Amino acid sequence: MKVTVFGIGYVGLVQAAVLAEVGHEVLCIDVDAKKVENLKNGQIPIFEPGLTPLVQRNYEAGRLLFSTNAAEGVAHATVQFIAVGTPPDEDGSADLKYVTAVARTIAEYMTEPKVVIDKSTVPVGTADKVRAVMTEKLKERGVDIEFNVVSNPEFLKEGAAVADCMRPERIVIGTDNPDAIDPIRELYEPFNRNHDRMILMDIRSAELTKYAANCMLATKISFMNEMSNLAEMLGADIEKVRQGIGSDSRIGYHFIYPGCGYGGSCFPKDVQALIRTAEHIGYQPKLLQAVEQVNYQQKYKLPAFIQRHFGDDLKGRTFALWGLSFKPNTDDMREASSRVLMEQLWAAGAKIKAYDPEAMNETQRIYGQRDDLELMGTKESALQNADALIICTEWQNFRAPDFDAIKKTLKEPVIFDGRNLYDPERLEKRGFTYYGIGRGASI
Ligand code: NAD
Repeated sequence: MKVTVFGIGYVGLVQAAVLAEVGHEVLCIDVDAKKVENLKNGQIPIFEPGLTPLVQRNYEAGRLLFSTNAAEGVAHATVQFIAVGTPPDEDGSADLKYVTAVARTIAEYMTEPKVVIDKSTVPVGTADKVRAVMTEKLKERGVDIEFNVVSNPEFLKEGAAVADCMRPERIVIGTDNPDAIDPIRELYEPFNRNHDRMILMDIRSAELTKYAANCMLATKISFMNEMSNLAEMLGADIEKVRQGIGSDSRIGYHFIYPGCGYGGSCFPKDVQALIRTAEHIGYQPKLLQAVEQVNYQQKYKLPAFIQRHFGDDLKGRTFALWGLSFKPNTDDMREASSRVLMEQLWAAGAKIKAYDPEAMNETQRIYGQRDDLELMGTKESALQNADALIICTEWQNFRAPDFDAIKKTLKEPVIFDGRNLYDPERLEKRGFTYYGIGRGASI
């Protein structure tokens, strides 16, 4: 099948590459000319495991094309995906300007019926807006061409996006018109062989499903972080509590890790956007507000530990920081906890020597050249002349470091661990002062 994807970001590029891999002919359109040019030269704009060979292979095979020419994109296929960003507006609600811009573009150039599939995360009622924008544009052109708008939210996880798109746990399709389902079934058939993963529903339910999923996951994290704060104050160890509650099959072990707060492009913005949606219709979403507040506070946990240990004035102090991305296996720094941490430490006068396996370029892009930030080539070199070690992201190769070498290199053997990677007792026996999240039994 022929497919057009508008927006070549984390979602659009991965989905396009995966669709091309199974044989579809995919044309990707983006307004970012540099990104399109780079892709044509084999340069992939993001780090995502397995993505580079997938894109290169399909580009070389001619099944995955890139362009800035929207008219060409509209002419290419009946199926048109919208996968552009929906960043927070000033008040936290989702800004739909990119989504409606694509809808208008499709209506501007279409000469035959289209199925417009919205993959961006959008508030309930957006499909109606997309329909209205397209109808208005077609009217302006004086033409009457049929189209269907379908909601198909994306559930991929950054860091595992290729695998998630290749083997989706579910394919949610929201449509008010059964005629629109056939082309979508055919499109997703290669990903739907083992069992039927397609969950059909009305458009509003599909739009809300995406927010409900992200808000549920964010709630689990904030719940565990709240428990970790209680554990710390009550002299309990949250890691023991986690094991204890995870063993209940109604709770389970997934996604109940406490830490220094969630970040990324999705949870913070989607929790906020659903709060705004609720408020607009006169509902006070107390639970979601608390989820957001707990997460906000949690990002200040590590800076507070550091200032408790070294005092408020950190002038003359240097800290080794392992992990910059908001989670492992990505270079995405959007809303990363490391950013709050670095900004707090800088404000108190400290310097940072940071290492991350993938997010150093992104950190450089965001913060530019500054005297109080040094990006290091290895995690070991970040320790040189540092007063203490801080961990913000649970990359695999931070899990079992050479503790003797760390102790020898740091000026003081202190570790502030925002992801509870280490055993407090073992570290204390080795002579470290160890600060974890919610480890009251040992602090
Ligand atoms: P992104 O910012 O990485 O990419 C968006 C792309 O859209 C950019 O390349 C931008 O240049 C392009 N764009 C903007 N306006 C355009 C236009 N008029 N025509 C063509 N291209 C245009 O965004 P993302 O992280 O891929 O997210 C896209 C959507 O998917 C968002 O709604 C997001 O909430 C949702 N989502 C993201 C993830 C994730 O993990 N990143 C997961 C699920 C859903």
